[in-house]
Amino acid sequence: MSTNTFENINKKTVYGPVKSWRFGQSLGIDPLFQTSICSFDCIYCQLGKIQNLTIKRDVYVKTEQVLEDYREVIASNTIVDVITYSGSGEPTLALNLDEMIKGIGKLSPTIPQNILTNATTLHLPEVRKTLLSLDKVIVKLDGPTEQLMKTVNRPAEGVSFESIIEGIREFRKIYNGALEVQCMLMPLLEKDFEQFFEIMKSFNPNLVQFNTPSRPYPSSWHRENRGNHELIFDYKVNWLKELDKTDFEAMSKVFSEQTGLKVLIK
Ligand code: SF4
Repeated sequence: MSTNTFENINKKTVYGPVKSWRFGQSLGIDPLFQTSICSFDCIYCQLGKIQNLTIKRDVYVKTEQVLEDYREVIASNTIVDVITYSGSGEPTLALNLDEMIKGIGKLSPTIPQNILTNATTLHLPEVRKTLLSLDKVIVKLDGPTEQLMKTVNRPAEGVSFESIIEGIREFRKIYNGALEVQCMLMPLLEKDFEQFFEIMKSFNPNLVQFNTPSRPYPSSWHRENRGNHELIFDYKVNWLKELDKTDFEAMSKVFSEQTGLKVLIK
């Protein structure tokens, strides 16, 4: 039985599963839940304007609540191919993320666990240690400069571009799982694109995925926008300026040729 109803989307720390074009049935885990909480406030964020823009790590939702919601989903025989930590913002801001990963790993040792992170906490050794046990770590990087980060990702005070880059490099040195980089290719990036090549190569990622904004920017926060679903709910949204499809494909091709990295486009 699926739990993917509008009601459950809003009430639980575990949501979906949502169909992922790459991973199959992906069950989302939200380690933040109370409201949207992130160290970025990206201009394209599907959650809308971030309510709590912060770099502070804290316990935002109790581990037991997440495990209880998770047990309920598996008890209903829902098909789950992969677990993804993401939810209402930046999952590594949850101080108890480690407990959640271990708790879910004990309940479902054979289901792979992935995370989507903006890498703003990866300079912290304790965060790197927590992520080591995951099967796949997907980091976001939308450009090669502090200025671009400030324009596109609108970070919380205290976030430094250099420490993000260093954090990813340090993590790569110790991580044996699959490290992927996701980049939202926006018109703003075009003029700095070549600077991107060396930075990306230095991460030695298993894959780079280029996206364009596929969903509109909601005017306000709605919890049901967690997850990579295709639903558009009934409230005011703004569509973002996208790269022309030909430019998008051409940039991806140049990137792949110049870096030798495996590239996926969506
Ligand atoms: S990092 Fe992710 S959750 Fe945070 S604002 Fe950007 S898109 Fe939204």
